[in-house]
Amino acid sequence: MARFSIFGGDTTRRIAEADSVAVIGLGRFGRSLALELMAAGTDVLGIDMDEELVQALNTQLTQVVRADATKEEALRQLAVDEFDRVVVAIGNDIQASILTCSVLLGMGVPIIWAKAVDDRHGLILEQLGVHHVIYPEKDMGKRVAHLVRGAALDYIEVEQGYAIVKASPPARLCGVPLGQSGLRKEFGVTVAAFKKPGADWHNADADTVLGPDDRILIVGPTRMAEGFAQLR
Ligand code: ATP
Repeated sequence: MARFSIFGGDTTRRIAEADSVAVIGLGRFGRSLALELMAAGTDVLGIDMDEELVQALNTQLTQVVRADATKEEALRQLAVDEFDRVVVAIGNDIQASILTCSVLLGMGVPIIWAKAVDDRHGLILEQLGVHHVIYPEKDMGKRVAHLVRGAALDYIEVEQGYAIVKASPPARLCGVPLGQSGLRKEFGVTVAAFKKPGADWHNADADTVLGPDDRILIVGPTRMAEGFAQLR
């Protein structure tokens, strides 16, 4: 992974040309997102007003710059307008979040993701025209609620009413090829993948035979997928 030591528009312009993302706001959420992008091989330009944060992340992101993101001039100097994707991870300072998004939209950034702390904040960002508004606290709360109430080991709602649930296979599903289990007809769900103890995940097919210690990914309407995960 290339690292850039010169702070300035030329360097950030080079980052913008690569598979890269600019992350504005390096609080807990922005930092975690930026580090995960780096781990996945994406170049990241991190921007924050806080000098200490910038110093702390200096060697961990492709480049980290201290700047006030509400100032169009500062963002232009950093060539943020040349990035295809920008994430605004400023939450509590709603005014700074809105101003930053407005500047980015005005500069014509093609894809903007922005974090909202509540519905009111999110609505304003959507009305501004932000392409993807995310609600990390709300979404995580919803997700954990599903984990707490059932047998799911992990849970992702793909969209309203449709989910992927990680669970142990119910006893009645073990020892029979999935194709003969009547799963889709009877329960309205699909087992998309499975993992044997100590092995990797594999796509499931009609010949897959599950054991009681396996893990499975159940895909289907949320109620059915969750209900199925709870069968023993
Ligand atoms: P988290 O929950 O992710 O820690 P938060 O919701 O508390 O974050 P904020 O405190 O609003 O979010 O901001 C996150 C980061 O954004 C902070 O590190 C802050 O310094 C930075 N930030 C806030 N305003 C600006 C701005 N105008 N320009 C650049 N960075 C900013």
